[in-house]
Amino acid sequence: MKFEHYVRTIPDHPKPGIMFRDITTLLGDATAFRAAIDEMTQPFMDARVDKVVGIEARGFILGGAVAHQLSAGFVPARKRGKLPWRTIAQEYQLEYGVDAMEMHEDGLSAGDHVLLVDDLIATGGTALAALALIERLGARCVGVSAVIDLPDLKGAERLRARNLSVHTLAAFSGH
Ligand code: AMP
Repeated sequence: MKFEHYVRTIPDHPKPGIMFRDITTLLGDATAFRAAIDEMTQPFMDARVDKVVGIEARGFILGGAVAHQLSAGFVPARKRGKLPWRTIAQEYQLEYGVDAMEMHEDGLSAGDHVLLVDDLIATGGTALAALALIERLGARCVGVSAVIDLPDLKGAERLRARNLSVHTLAAFSGH
């Protein structure tokens, strides 16, 4: 399936110069959604995956379905201040300024094998922040699955340099 065809591109959103890759069109199509979850899951079917960590917010939709398919637990990585229990936080660089991502301190156990899921990998900064949280909890990230890669921004390359197996279904050039 050509997943690129199911992604809607919105120029200059949320600010001038950004080509926003909107996956709501893919999620709303029953066949494409099913196929995307199958393909995101397939490389990890025979791997041990105890938990899927999904990154807020689109990573929750995909990660929940991937976790179900792998019979794994689901653990959210959220923006600062959103999780109700005790958390650990990791700061990361945005285009303008710094943000923080949090996970519950008991979300993962030492030795857990984790698959990280998000909608899109651009610079890889978001996924690397989640990876830091996963490792600080003593768990091991076995791979990253996302719908879209923006290869010009080299995020997938950065993640592979950390010895992670990175799987994406569609690629777009530029930002
Ligand atoms: P990065 O940390 O640079 O890899 O950015 C990835 C995160 O930002 C993901 O959670 C995406 O949802 C979001 N993101 C970055 N660039 C775009 C884009 N062009 N379209 C849609 N979402 C994006």
